[in-house]
Amino acid sequence: SDYELEQTIDQRIRVVVRKRPLNPKEKLRKERDICTCESWNQVSIHEPKVKVDLTKFTEVHSYHFDQVFSEKAHNQEVYYYTARPLVKNIFAGKKATCFCYGQTGAGKTYTMMEKNTGIYVLAAADIFKELEKPEHRELDLSAHVSFFEIYGGKLFDLLNSRKRLWAREDGTGNVCISGLDERPIRNTKELLSHINDGLTSRSVGATGVNADSSRSHAILQIVLRDVDDEIYGKISFIDLAGSERAADTMNTDRRTRMEGAEINKSLLALKECIRALDRGSKHLPFRGSKLTMVLKDSFIGDARTVMIANLSPNDKAAENTLNTLRYAYRVK
Ligand code: ADP
Ligand code: MG
Repeated sequence: SDYELEQTIDQRIRVVVRKRPLNPKEKLRKERDICTCESWNQVSIHEPKVKVDLTKFTEVHSYHFDQVFSEKAHNQEVYYYTARPLVKNIFAGKKATCFCYGQTGAGKTYTMMEKNTGIYVLAAADIFKELEKPEHRELDLSAHVSFFEIYGGKLFDLLNSRKRLWAREDGTGNVCISGLDERPIRNTKELLSHINDGLTSRSVGATGVNADSSRSHAILQIVLRDVDDEIYGKISFIDLAGSERAADTMNTDRRTRMEGAEINKSLLALKECIRALDRGSKHLPFRGSKLTMVLKDSFIGDARTVMIANLSPNDKAAENTLNTLRYAYRVK
C-alpha cells in the first residue's frame, strides 16, 4: 500500500544503485553491458540487487541494496524513491542529504543536475508546492539556495565567482562557512538561474584555469528559514568527486597525488559518518575531512541520508563498478 511504501522509503539511511545505459561510443566499440539490476518492481522477490557479470573471470558478483534502478529508469522515478521523501522531512524541521557517488562518467551529474529533470529541480518544485500549502504558509518560511564546491580540501563559493571560503567551528560545536552566499528563491526558475551561474564558475573558475569537476565535490543546499531567519529545515544535494580519483595517490604528478589523497580521505570519512549515523552513535568522525565537517549539522539529530551509487555498465569499467558497489554496500 501507499502507506507501507512511504514507511519503507522514509529510512534514516537509504542506499540505492542507479545504472546508466551504454552510451553510443561504448556501443560503437562493441563494449559489453555487464550489469543487471533486479528490482522489486520487476521480479516477485523483495530483494533488489545488482549483478555484475565478470564472465571473463568466471565470476558473478551480486549485491543487495534498498533499491536498484536499471538503465530504463528516468530521473523522475529515481527522484520519487530518493529525494522526494527527504522533502517531506525538511518540512518536519529535519536535515536531509542526498549524495551521488561513483566513477567519472557514471551519471552523477546527470542524476543530480540534468536540465529540468535533475533531482534537485524536482525537489525544488515540490518544496515550492509544499510552501503554498496552508499548514506551511502559517509557518511563514522562505527558501534560500547556496552552492559551493570542495576542491583539494578548500571551499569555493560557486554563487560568488568561486570566492575562497573558510569553515569555522564555534564554541558550541556549530560549523559555519563564513561569507557563503545564500540567495532567496521563490520558484524553480530563480533557482535554475542561480545554479547556471554557479555551474559556469565551476567549470571556468576565477583564475580562468579549467577546474576539473571530477576532482571536486559540488554541494547545493536549499535552506528553509523562519521569520527570525533561523534555519527550519535543510536539504543538501552532493555531486561527489569521481570515486576513481581516490586512487590517484599513485600518480606521478604531485598535485594530482595530493588531490587524490584528499578525495580518498573525504570519501572514507563520509562512509564512517553515515555508518555512525546509522548506528545512532553519539560520536561522529566528522572532523575526518572538509566534506564531512561542513555537513556536520546534517549528520546529527534526526537527519535523513540517501546515497545514490551511480554505475557505468560497460566491461571496461568493471573494476571501478565493483569498487563503487563495495563502498555503497558498506555504507549501511
Ligand atoms: P558523472 O557526473 O558521474 O561524471 P555524467 O552525469 O556527466 O557523469 O554522465 C556521463 C554521460 O552519460 C553524460 O553524457 C550523461 O548525459 C550520460 N548519462 C548519464 N546517466 C544517464 C542516464 N541515466 N541516461 C542517459 N544518459 C546518461
Ligand atoms: Mg559530473
